[in-house]
Amino acid sequence: MKLMRSWMQSANDPETEFPLNNLPYGVFSVDGDEPRCGIAIGDMVLDVAAMEAAGLLRITDDFVLDVPFWNEVMELGPEAWKRLRVLLLGFLGEGAESQEQVAKYMIPQARVRMHMPLLVAEYTDFYAGMQHAKNMGSILRGSPDLPANWLHIPIGYNGRASSVVVSGTDIHRPLGQTRVAGADAPRFGPTERLDFELEVGAIVGTGSVLGQPITTAQADKMIFGFVLLNDWSARDIQAWEYQPLGPFQGKAFGTTISPWIVPKAALEPFRCAEPVREVPLLPYLHEKTQGFYNVALEVQIQPADAPRASTIARTNYNQVYFSAAQQLTHHAVCGCEMNPGDLLGSGTISGPARDAFGSLMELSWAGEEPMTLDTGETRSFVEDGDTLTLRGHAQGDGYRVGFGPCSGRILPALHMPGWA
Ligand code: MN
Repeated sequence: MKLMRSWMQSANDPETEFPLNNLPYGVFSVDGDEPRCGIAIGDMVLDVAAMEAAGLLRITDDFVLDVPFWNEVMELGPEAWKRLRVLLLGFLGEGAESQEQVAKYMIPQARVRMHMPLLVAEYTDFYAGMQHAKNMGSILRGSPDLPANWLHIPIGYNGRASSVVVSGTDIHRPLGQTRVAGADAPRFGPTERLDFELEVGAIVGTGSVLGQPITTAQADKMIFGFVLLNDWSARDIQAWEYQPLGPFQGKAFGTTISPWIVPKAALEPFRCAEPVREVPLLPYLHEKTQGFYNVALEVQIQPADAPRASTIARTNYNQVYFSAAQQLTHHAVCGCEMNPGDLLGSGTISGPARDAFGSLMELSWAGEEPMTLDTGETRSFVEDGDTLTLRGHAQGDGYRVGFGPCSGRILPALHMPGWA
């Protein structure tokens, strides 16, 4: 697939994350006005809400772009998503007749504030990174052996939608209960093992029916697009609470997503083969069109007083063992209703190399081997004032498709009586 050229010159730059091939969905505001739907193109945002209001862009009889979320478009289904894409390609392609008219609806990205691109209906986080699962086994149980179920079932837990925030939102260090190794009793206070998790989130666009299973082919069609996702984790809170029911407060305080939802259509050219499987999957998880994508991912950390960020990990979305469509199929197969706006985290994406690990728990090996940043500082876990940024892009022939940065800064814990 080659670069699709646009009359918007900045969209033809081989380094931009937003060429005509991408057209990601976001929600923006300018100078404190009403947040509304927009599309990124080069270094601009196309105000598609204003175009809809002006009668220039209609994908259905109702207004669906004047709201601060893309859920109404999701609900229209894949045919409508395609209609919108075809209209946008027509407006923005090189030589478009409507160029002069459409140019009036362009706003520099430098001027806009980005908001949550969707109303997150529910959030489920999975565990599909094999290297991550092996690393966590080694660190926590002394063995990289995968749990007996791991190669067969997309392991996940039901997380919180209420604390999913858009890139740029500060997060306070969470308070909680922990028990220091060897201590008899737990303590209460701020986490001392704050971590990030590098993930990709899949956005469910159309739902399923309560009580009815779905196939992997149906699941693939239901996916609207993808975001970068940082599943912030408090490892010490998690370690004390997780037995026997799994993650709870150690994961509930914050999940950061990128401001742009990359359409699944934009990632079609980057589908890749499924991973090598030691054991076959059960038939209900077989995919005819495999839902794996080649998307380069990286993580940067910037301490409060550091002049620049240090890149601490590089990996690829193709390292996951279960696709988003397989996870969605498994989620719904019991009869669990899935809805527009449901968010599915891939699980931490670690590659086999030491500098391809998707969390500080792995990168610093639970603090035993602190990382040295470019600035000479060391890190075992995230400290107050640190900004973590995830980036990702699919590399085409002379163009790339990206998500915009997925950033979050950690602020000190809010004081509460009873700290240990
Ligand atoms: Mn996670």
